[in-house]
Amino acid sequence: MLVLARALSCPVAFYSCPHCGEEVDTSPDPGGGFSQQYVEDCAVCCRPNVISASYDPDEDDWSVSAEAE
Ligand SMILES: [Zn+2]
Repeated sequence: MLVLARALSCPVAFYSCPHCGEEVDTSPDPGGGFSQQYVEDCAVCCRPNVISASYDPDEDDWSVSAEAE
């Protein structure tokens, strides 16, 4: 369960904001499952993005993509 423990500890992933193009970090909710979608305001331009996040156990990492809401 080591992989799972790491995934649940402090997930951080990065995406390029579709509004301003800046790279922004996001933290998928560990309790939300390994595939989730949520709305989050860009930390740079404060516009809402729809984040699609999925966890890859092989890579032990989250991959995220964002699109404008
Ligand atoms: Zn932005």
